[in-house]
Amino acid sequence: MDGLMQQVPLTVGGILRRAEQLFGDKEIATAGPGGIQRTTYRAWAERTRRLGGALDDLGISADGRVATFAWNTARHLELYFAAPASGRVLHTLNIRLFADQLVYIANHAEDEVVFADRSLLPVLWPLVDRLTSVRHVVVMDDGSPAEIPEDPRVLDYEALLAQASPSPLDQVTDEQRAASMCYTSGTTGNPKGVVYSHRSTVLHSLVALTVDGLGIGEADRVLPVVPMFHANAWGLCHAAVLAGASLVFPGADLSPAAIADLLVGERVTVAAAVPTIWMGVRPLLAGRDTSALRSILCGGSAVPKALAEAYRTELGVPILQAWGMTETSPLATIARVRSDLRHLPEDAQADIRATQGLPVVGMELRIADPDTGETLPWDGKTCGEIQVRSPWVAAAYYNDPRSAESFTADGWLRTGDVATVSPEGYVHLVDRTKDLIKSGGEWISSVDLENEIMAHPKVAEAAVIAVPSERWMERPLACVVVKPGEQLDPEELRRWLADRVPKWWLPDRVELIDEVPKTSVGKFSKRQLRERFADLRLP
Ligand code: ADP
Repeated sequence: MDGLMQQVPLTVGGILRRAEQLFGDKEIATAGPGGIQRTTYRAWAERTRRLGGALDDLGISADGRVATFAWNTARHLELYFAAPASGRVLHTLNIRLFADQLVYIANHAEDEVVFADRSLLPVLWPLVDRLTSVRHVVVMDDGSPAEIPEDPRVLDYEALLAQASPSPLDQVTDEQRAASMCYTSGTTGNPKGVVYSHRSTVLHSLVALTVDGLGIGEADRVLPVVPMFHANAWGLCHAAVLAGASLVFPGADLSPAAIADLLVGERVTVAAAVPTIWMGVRPLLAGRDTSALRSILCGGSAVPKALAEAYRTELGVPILQAWGMTETSPLATIARVRSDLRHLPEDAQADIRATQGLPVVGMELRIADPDTGETLPWDGKTCGEIQVRSPWVAAAYYNDPRSAESFTADGWLRTGDVATVSPEGYVHLVDRTKDLIKSGGEWISSVDLENEIMAHPKVAEAAVIAVPSERWMERPLACVVVKPGEQLDPEELRRWLADRVPKWWLPDRVELIDEVPKTSVGKFSKRQLRERFADLRLP
């Protein structure tokens, strides 16, 4: 027998309509060269409707891909809703990708139009002739002096909006339709396209609102520092609009000073960024009024315990770590300390916060032997590949033969991340499959080693990679960046580690480097480090 409930589609347009109806006066703030620009959900929704009309005027096909090449701004939020709610597919291009990858992605997705911030034209414009399906480049003038090319393809965003008539933005009735797409940043091979549906977007937003999820509510002021081109800014924009929370956008200036000023000046309550940003911002918050801040969300790579603890002791708010990937929308696990573990000493709780956390509501997770597929126990010791299943986890990549190898026969996503899971369900990520160091038949976790090295008071950053070894197959090489003004003797570091990790984990070699190379989304690029030390051999 069927249930007798209403079949109401979950759509991105529905998210917009709620904010417009209930929270019209709530603010959206965007930092820019001329100061902070403020708008309201009412004005934003009105412009978003006109943008929907403008997409019709431009002749964008019914499910055409609408690309953005933009910072986190209120205009980008207009695109976030106008494209999907008018039936099109938002495609957020990563502004930091290499030129060839950008061209590959835009052509693979068959983008019809690119909406670009003026300040980013110097990056985008040289590639435009290689973007075979792009018919228009719409410039969003952010006050940058960058030259606007004289070309029939170039249009002005504000002029388009001024001429357009509003769209009802209620065209989508099938919640399974594509709403947006985002390519993984391609640590190996060409990036792969993940296509989110209206349904997955709404469900993911609802989970972000739950108390044990991100706990975003109407009273919050949310600052997504994580880029809107990176896994939909971790879902924060949709979640904030759904809740009716105010949004604070950083625009183009992601310097630690600018972020710290926004946090304090805008009385932000929830802020989200990768660990490197939080490392930079921390010293700049000392002695300032951060009393509004209640949640510092961090993910994308492992959050060093020392960093999370520094925030707890200095600001009274520990960093809240989450794990996920583009393929998982991205929210998959979150490291809140369960109520039945809050009796533990502070340090033990800090260890729990340094894990990747518990699966969020609606996320099924298991670890499995990557070769045999056998499901492994949650005993806090056994390592296996994380596999996940949820209505907001990808089932395939867009037009990509590599889909086959990324999913199990029973339809779970193979994440390529290796972890242990504690009996309580805390996921502790040990490594990415390809970053594990195999020494004499045993695994060494590069992530754990890095964490211990980064806890040393003189270390700013550290990345550990495997180097071929005649005797052990592979041995760890620690690439360490020392804090400005400090001197670090590799022996001193090895002594520090000797108390903290198994003896056979001690890096055979410590290289002092100026900076850990980063990927387009600000993660440590171990590939570049491996290339740099490709000739190194250890005994
Ligand atoms: P990409 O895979 O393109 O670098 P994603 O944003 O999809 O970009 O990255 C997902 C990966 O980032 C995960 O598979 C995992 O390896 C890593 N990651 C994400 N969050 C964490 C975290 N909290 N701790 C450790 N690694 C993380």
